Amino acid sequence: MGSDDVVLLADEAIALGAVHAGLGAAYGYPGTPSTEILEYLIALYEKGRGPRAAWCANEKTAYEEALGASFAGKRALVTMKHVGLNVAADPFVNSALVAIKGGLVLAIADDPGMHSSQDEQDSRFYAQFAGVPCLEPTSQQEAYEMTREAFDLSERFQLPVMVRITTRLAHSRSGVKPREPRAENPLGKCADKAAWTLLPANGRRRYDRLCKIQGELEAWSAASAWNPVAAGAGAADFVVVTGGLGRNYYEENLGDLEARLGKGKLPARLHVGAYPLPEAKIRELAAGTKRILVIEEGSPFIERAIRGVLPSGVAVSGKLDGALPRIGELNPDNVRQAMGLPPRPAAPLAPPPLPGRPPQLCQGCPHADSYQAVAKALEGLPSTLVTADIGCYALGALPPFSVPEALVCMGASISMAVGAAEAGYENVVGFIGDSTFLHSGMTGLVDAVSREVAVTIVILDNSIVAMTGGQKTMLPSARIEEIVRGIGVEPAHVAVIDPSPSQAARNAELFRREIAHRGVSVVIARRECLEAIKAKKKSAARETAAKGACK
Ligand code: SF4
Repeated sequence: MGSDDVVLLADEAIALGAVHAGLGAAYGYPGTPSTEILEYLIALYEKGRGPRAAWCANEKTAYEEALGASFAGKRALVTMKHVGLNVAADPFVNSALVAIKGGLVLAIADDPGMHSSQDEQDSRFYAQFAGVPCLEPTSQQEAYEMTREAFDLSERFQLPVMVRITTRLAHSRSGVKPREPRAENPLGKCADKAAWTLLPANGRRRYDRLCKIQGELEAWSAASAWNPVAAGAGAADFVVVTGGLGRNYYEENLGDLEARLGKGKLPARLHVGAYPLPEAKIRELAAGTKRILVIEEGSPFIERAIRGVLPSGVAVSGKLDGALPRIGELNPDNVRQAMGLPPRPAAPLAPPPLPGRPPQLCQGCPHADSYQAVAKALEGLPSTLVTADIGCYALGALPPFSVPEALVCMGASISMAVGAAEAGYENVVGFIGDSTFLHSGMTGLVDAVSREVAVTIVILDNSIVAMTGGQKTMLPSARIEEIVRGIGVEPAHVAVIDPSPSQAARNAELFRREIAHRGVSVVIARRECLEAIKAKKKSAARETAAKGACK
């Protein structure tokens, strides 16, 4: 490492790359494994050393705020995890039609293996669907470089550009060599109003432009240094296409492959780091071979696409034919197997007989008391159903609580409770966190109130976004009560409780009463997250120590 190099997570390398590209603003919604991108930028902003960076109510508002900054001529970054793009899909897809002014980059982190997510969807499909370029780094240095280039590309093609990473890269560190920063763009505006107002007539023209520019994107991708081809010596009976971290695992096994095939006799290989797919390069690579092995992290995106590109007679091998696992992450061992190499000798391990340790709510977590009180209130009632949402409290679906019966995506608990109640369930409870309520739960409550549906909604208000590392909830606790009343829940059926063990009997009684109410009830269970309390104590201790040092 050189003296100017910095050791960064790939998340942080994206953030630094954006700053050095002349970033004007950054927005996002926290979600593992993307959170550290904006954390890095917010820390810079708070120290007065970086542009505006802020968490937003949800991924859609984050994307739209970045879009507004781009409209104003500034380079803007928006960050989220893969499932967050489902929420931001509307502005993302439509922003491909406007004439992007200041570079607009979406940095998105996918989670193959579902370490902290409810699915492992692959964001490359979204980039293809919207018709925009996507860059996919395989190292921290590439994360830095590609983010810088993404802003240039965005302004060159007047399109948003996606930078996609996956969990292992997002959360691993390596040295990054930064380059000279670029200045921020001045404030500006697109001169062509019609290119930003997507009325049908304008939308048709803009969509025509998006379709026509695809050829230019393909030409750029074909020439991109991010899509390098390594010539092969023809000894192998296959050629290789790698994508994302698949490249690293392939390279990790090259020594053994070379030992098997003979020195310098490795298969030809294309690495895809820039999309749209460089189809001509793939066709050239495939000429004269009988089989292509595709090693890519995520869904079989490249693998499916090249089946339509190659002449018949070339077999495509990868996740669809079982050469690699269809779900979960790649690793050096499963890639090795797909390369036809024998397993590496493993040291025999005799693990001690440890008990299983499934994830659990923290000991003393306030959510545990809320679940127990609702479970008590539902005891003996007929026709009961409990929904929950995304957050720490999702763990209440596991033993010892096992209370929620359905949990699907951000904000769904209230709307699902409404649907179940209207389908005929009589005693329906929906759990949702304070932050998730503000993210996308409120609209479900609007539906419940507008149709006077008999549901009891429990807002678990712990004053923090606990699951993603303790970000501040967007609005103070007291406002949540005002919002609930403002939406129109009858004041007699809005209650704030203290979910503490000492209040267990009283809370269960209140839940029982509200569940019996044949309209909308909202119970706000308010007690601070234990991690938030710890963080406050630490920060107070740091402040005291700092004051002492100044004396
Ligand atoms: S971090 Fe906070 S909210 Fe999450 S389980 Fe622990 S105490 Fe509960």
